[in-house]
Amino acid sequence: MLLRHTNEEIKPRRSLTVNPAKTCQPIGAMYASLGIHNCLPHSHGSQGCCAYHRSALTRHFREPVMAATSSFTEGSSVFGGQANLVQAIDTIFTTYEPDIIAVHTTCLSETIGDDVNQIANKAVADGKVPKGKHVIHTSTPSYVGSHVTGFANMTKAMAMYFSKSTGTSNGKFNIIPGYVEPSDMSEIKRVVKEMGIKPILFPDTSNVLNGPQTGKYKMYPDGGVTAEELRSAGDSIATIALGPTASGDAARALDTKWKVPCVVGDLPIGLAATDRFIDGLRTAAGVSVPDSITRERGQLLDIITDMHQYFYGKKVALAGDPDHLIPLVEFLVSIDMLPVHIVTGTPGKAFEKRIGELTAHLPCKVNVKAGGDLFQLHQWIKNEPVDLLMANTYGKYMAKDDDIPYVRMGFPILDRVGHSYFPTVCYKGGMRLLEKILDALLDRMDRDAPEERFELVM
Ligand code: SF4
Repeated sequence: MLLRHTNEEIKPRRSLTVNPAKTCQPIGAMYASLGIHNCLPHSHGSQGCCAYHRSALTRHFREPVMAATSSFTEGSSVFGGQANLVQAIDTIFTTYEPDIIAVHTTCLSETIGDDVNQIANKAVADGKVPKGKHVIHTSTPSYVGSHVTGFANMTKAMAMYFSKSTGTSNGKFNIIPGYVEPSDMSEIKRVVKEMGIKPILFPDTSNVLNGPQTGKYKMYPDGGVTAEELRSAGDSIATIALGPTASGDAARALDTKWKVPCVVGDLPIGLAATDRFIDGLRTAAGVSVPDSITRERGQLLDIITDMHQYFYGKKVALAGDPDHLIPLVEFLVSIDMLPVHIVTGTPGKAFEKRIGELTAHLPCKVNVKAGGDLFQLHQWIKNEPVDLLMANTYGKYMAKDDDIPYVRMGFPILDRVGHSYFPTVCYKGGMRLLEKILDALLDRMDRDAPEERFELVM
């Protein structure tokens, strides 16, 4: 087996990561940029970084992800990448004709200290940015944070660059969906509209990275938040940020800049977190919850009731992003499962504290680590085996090595197709999540059942 050398003896490690539970900042920034209509992401650094980030997104979404690069050589690595970026901006607007270029940095351009703000201003001063077109940018050094940090930085950058306040309310709510699948963004939008609320959802990768097959290639697909919508974000009634790590900064920045009040909550994964989301919308907008949403909640409750006997007391190991894991752990605890090993690669002590609160009453020890890695998770599993593993694609090695039922969840998922078309958020997403978990548990039960206990009806 590939991870057969993972041993049970856990030794303290401070300066070594083995099998990271995260990926690099610019990937998150590139993903967020793709959620702006008519926008080309631009990687200010060497070609290799850009190729890696594009391929990670392309493999996850199974869609061609376009992005440009400053294409650093030895010269730009020593003397700075200003000339490359100014030239790139000129070429991109002339040849590929986006409305917006969203520049993020890389380890290299950060380390040599390129001032992208100054370079973007120079490009404007040199007449390289046509009228009505825009260059936005953010810093994404990959030795800080994770892909979620990059997503948060670019989301804040788009809000700060475009938003304005006219002093007249637009009657809308800013919704920041966090680092979730395009299908999740579209589900969040559907639920918000179902409540009778007009959203400005940003970023919005629905219909960009999960669009229909039309037989025709579009460099800039139909989806994405428009520059006009982003401009109007300063006139919104309030901002609802889903997930403090990915969405909190942008929401607070809009509050500070334009006094748009914000509520920073959890991603609506599972029953309780979705209840809080719906209730937050209800109270903020002063609307009633429609019967259609109440029905979906009832369906989720019904499924929980039918499935509960199989979930009870099952131990779960989890790896993923903090904004996903917090409501997911809450959901699992609420259906009487036991999340015993929880790791995120994204640093942040608030995560450990929150998980500690959610699992404090469980009748077992819970291991939790922010800024941890999959090696550590595997060692925990070796010491305390589990009934289920929930993680991104890289979890499959642990699942195979220790023969654990396994549900793919999070980013990236490189070895399965379709995840970007089906939501795991809100009540409908909760139902899908439970179906996936139960399938994994019952498939294992069937596989291991002796003939006399191989049941047709479970
Ligand atoms: S050098 Fe930095 S930005 Fe480039 S791929 Fe590696 S970690 Fe990511």
